[in-house]
Amino acid sequence: MLADESKVVMDNKNISIPFNRPFIVGQELYYIAQAVIDGQLAGDGPFTKRCHEWLEERIGCRKALLTHSCTAALEMSAMLCGIGPGDEVIMPSFTFVSTANAFVLRGAVPVFVDIRPDTLNLDEKLVEQALGPRTRAIVPVHYAGVPCAMDEILAIAGKKGLYVIEDAAQGLLSTYKKKYLGTIGHLGCLSFHETKNIISGEGGALLINRDTFSERAEILREKGTNRSQFFRGQVDKYTWVDVGSSYLPSELVSAFLFAQMELADKVVEVRRRIFSRYLEMLRPLEEEGRIRLPFIDGQDSNNGHIFYVLTASLDERTRLIEHLGSKGIKAIFHYVPLHSSPAGKKYGRVSGGMDMTDDLSDRLVRLPLYYGMSSDEVHRVADQVACFFRK
Ligand SMILES: *Cc1c(COP(=O)(O)O)cnc(C)c1O
Repeated sequence: MLADESKVVMDNKNISIPFNRPFIVGQELYYIAQAVIDGQLAGDGPFTKRCHEWLEERIGCRKALLTHSCTAALEMSAMLCGIGPGDEVIMPSFTFVSTANAFVLRGAVPVFVDIRPDTLNLDEKLVEQALGPRTRAIVPVHYAGVPCAMDEILAIAGKKGLYVIEDAAQGLLSTYKKKYLGTIGHLGCLSFHETKNIISGEGGALLINRDTFSERAEILREKGTNRSQFFRGQVDKYTWVDVGSSYLPSELVSAFLFAQMELADKVVEVRRRIFSRYLEMLRPLEEEGRIRLPFIDGQDSNNGHIFYVLTASLDERTRLIEHLGSKGIKAIFHYVPLHSSPAGKKYGRVSGGMDMTDDLSDRLVRLPLYYGMSSDEVHRVADQVACFFRK
């Protein structure tokens, strides 16, 4: 057994293995009841504060603000960096739509840059040639919780006076040179969506790593009011002071999330173990040259967020997903690259070639990986992958 499964609703052996399974790990339901009994359900109550403290202490950002999604944290980042119409923002095309949408909503143009073949992250060597007079920010996305080359990206940004906003939606508790992902750029965005490492259904956080953003971030998140300052007694009435929206989660969500944070290390440990088990079991197929396994760099710690396999071709991937499906196993591919999507073509532009993005996104398959996945389930998936290639 790879986890304490007592609290996880387990499927029967013969029933299919889902791709993901939302879970509870500790005191989630108790804390929700406590929030109800304490009588504050709106945001920024005791549980939200405990989540902020956990992020600030455990992850090590200057200031953390919970949001209702990573998407919301990315939108706040775009506003905080003053991104406006016609500005350009460098990002990979191999990412989730929110990375781009947050900036398109401000009238900016996403400029898509190709990815590295090893990490599947933004290729830092191609960033410089994508810069133009309107470039304002770079958004590295840490795919699968594997860190981007942050030193190189920060150096380019520093030279040109650009903001660096980390899309660390998948990066919770992964590190780059001993720093947690999301704490390295000016701003970092986390997700607690039910498919991520720790979850609250929908959820996210903005990590603020430069003090200059703190005050305005609170205001944007609280409908453009100085309500947070009012509650700290810094102003004697609260009023509309800036643009803004409602980006804070309810205490019910924060209560659930805090219980997950308390056991986040355990969850990540379990995911790492499943990840290692897959690696071990599929290594022979890689040695035979049939598949490629995920990149791992011993220097940086991996959070076991995604386990993927690269097949030889799009056709082979389709057949592998079908084969697994016929055995009751749900595997999925990841990302129609943004530059080839209808909205990406309309709102974004490409810098240079997209060869790696097009090729790798066609061949990538994500295998089931969730807290509470039993070793038997991991073995069944790995066996079926092996079966497919050997039949
Ligand atoms: C999941 C994800 C998001 C969006 O997160 P939400 O919390 O669902 O808004 C953004 N970027 C990446 C890379 C993601 O994986």
